Amino acid sequence: GYDLSDDKTLARIENGRKSLAPLQATPLTVGEATGGAVDLRNPATGEVIGSVVQADQDCVARAMSDAAIWDAPVTERAAILRKAADLYERDFGVIFALLAREAGKTQLDAVGELREAVDFLRYYAGEAERRPDALPLGRVTAISPWNFPLAIFTGQIAAALAMGNAVLAKPAEQTPLIAAHAVALLHEAGVPRSALQLLPGDGPTVGAALTSDPRIDGVVFTGSTETAKRIQRAMAKNLTPGAPLIAETGGLNAMIVDSTALPEQAVRDIVASAFQSAGQRCSALRCLYVQEDIAPALIEMIKGAMDELAVGDPWELATDVGPVIDREAKTQIDAYVAGRSAQVLHRLKAPNAGTFVAPTLIEVAGIEELEREIFGPVLHVATYKARDLDKVIDAINATGYGLTFGLHTRIDDRVQQVCDRLHVGNLYVNRNQIGAIVGSQPFGGEGLSGTGPKAGGPCYLDRFATPQGPQVAGTWEA
Ligand code: NAD
Repeated sequence: GYDLSDDKTLARIENGRKSLAPLQATPLTVGEATGGAVDLRNPATGEVIGSVVQADQDCVARAMSDAAIWDAPVTERAAILRKAADLYERDFGVIFALLAREAGKTQLDAVGELREAVDFLRYYAGEAERRPDALPLGRVTAISPWNFPLAIFTGQIAAALAMGNAVLAKPAEQTPLIAAHAVALLHEAGVPRSALQLLPGDGPTVGAALTSDPRIDGVVFTGSTETAKRIQRAMAKNLTPGAPLIAETGGLNAMIVDSTALPEQAVRDIVASAFQSAGQRCSALRCLYVQEDIAPALIEMIKGAMDELAVGDPWELATDVGPVIDREAKTQIDAYVAGRSAQVLHRLKAPNAGTFVAPTLIEVAGIEELEREIFGPVLHVATYKARDLDKVIDAINATGYGLTFGLHTRIDDRVQQVCDRLHVGNLYVNRNQIGAIVGSQPFGGEGLSGTGPKAGGPCYLDRFATPQGPQVAGTWEA
């Protein structure tokens, strides 16, 4: 297990730190690629921790012709993916260190991320075995974001590989080292090199080449809605019959807390969802609606809970909120908050070094004031009257996004009212609105938030097989 109160776990983390210490002196270089080298910085300190030689269009062309479907029996593929899960666990300490150094992850976040990655490998291995006659699509491009550089990167690849596809994986620009480590472990476990190739590089060059090539038979993408639309346009030019785009994208996630809610529980969930991972989760709460009569007291409680958050070095066990991913993200979020300074109800202090953003609470009239997803530790709060609940739900629907939604209430009919009216992928009632549990709580959005099917759910793998292959009926999703 990864219990942070357990001495053995702490010792493994400590070993991971030590084994990465030389990184500071000797930058790690990834790839045999022929594009330019780019430095990678620790977001908490600004120091260079490594460099990556990026792929270019020639690398993509070579990878495209080297790619070969993984033509092994499903039981063998599944065994290799399970072996990879074991290797991820073996390298626990190094993975933690990379997640903190390269992505600014706190240890709590790193625990969750490693758990999710390992769960994806094992779950998709088992699901693939339930589809022994399924046929792979062929070449599948996997494009991932920096905010779950291990879990999402691994989930996409594991799904495509489990079905025997040849995967061309492009990690986010900011997090190629953790991706390179994951790919090395998958190769060590026995995944053939021709079935899994890593192409670090930027979106406009490498990402675009990997999604516009007519030899691509499918794309799995997680990132912003804007990029997903761009990829959809690129793929549409090829008209490859049946080539799917499986996209998980952004959200403008809301929560409603009514006057019957348990205040302590609601506040704990609000603060965790909005500020854990420095708000850099697609599932994070962005706009909270509090019923008018309890609003003044609840907002005071939220401020108090924010004051308890430790913002700082992700290496420290006590840290709750680490840095945002890079200088560009920090500049954008700080400028957004500055533009709304008259509405700021509460703002913490953040360290000056690195790219920290102070957790902030902003008052708004409603979700319609949020024009776009602010991907950082910024929570908006509005109040509503009980009789206006349907109007609030309509305003949430009108954003066009439908990723996560939280509801704190003790009234069953109210839960039903929300379920009937709201268009959303994941709904959390009286609990922490924070992402996926592989195998038991599949994750994915509606509308501008994604194409489905939900990752970590029973129907996901069917999209990675040709429609001619036998399908396994799901239990959760249509
Ligand atoms: P992004 O869209 O900027 O980048 C994602 C990936 O797309 C990166 O690897 C990038 O290099 C690549 N890319 C960029 N332009 C491209 C192009 N023209 N063609 C092909 N690839 C291209 O997103 P980000 O900033 O890395 O991640 C944050 C976003 O991801 C947020 O919107 C967040 O909500 C979303 N997200 C969604 C989920 C989900 O499950 N729904 C999970 C995590 C993150």
